[in-house]
Amino acid sequence: MRISLSEILAVINNGNSVKEISVLPEMEAFEYDGREYGFISKEPVAIKLGKVSSRSLHFNARTHCVLLAECSRCLEPVELPFDINTDCELIVDENGCASTRDDDEKLSYVEGYELDVDGFLKEELMIGFPLQVLCSEECRGLCPKCGANLNRGECGCDRTVSDPRMSIIRDLFPDL
Ligand SMILES: [Zn+2]
Ligand SMILES: [Zn+2]
Repeated sequence: MRISLSEILAVINNGNSVKEISVLPEMEAFEYDGREYGFISKEPVAIKLGKVSSRSLHFNARTHCVLLAECSRCLEPVELPFDINTDCELIVDENGCASTRDDDEKLSYVEGYELDVDGFLKEELMIGFPLQVLCSEECRGLCPKCGANLNRGECGCDRTVSDPRMSIIRDLFPDL
């Protein structure tokens, strides 16, 4: 869903100081790093746009959603909650390109006087996505031998990494 910044600027320049919109993101899943994460829940993005000047807007967007991911060690499902609350100033130039006052960078989700709500959410999820998804910092992962989830208890496999020099001796003297 895209919202028209020029319409909002017109409304705001007509005397309304703040415009509030609530938009439910259309995306069904978040694609990131070649993978797809479904939503366990998502809420509408509450957007507030306020006048700063005739060409600039204060932009605030808040939402909450939960993605379904999997622990990178034990592969169990992990819920990833995101609390998004972003503030910035949008400056719309004659070409309809918006940038922020802080870093003068073009925003990926603003194009030609339009703000793409799904693009906004995607960018925020990318920023907030953890470097490594873990069910817990202490996750013990899977046994490399039998694949058992070691968080549920010991599987009984011998996982001691043997000294390669010892394995040569074992190859030579299998009865040792
Ligand atoms: Zn885990
Ligand atoms: Zn095992």
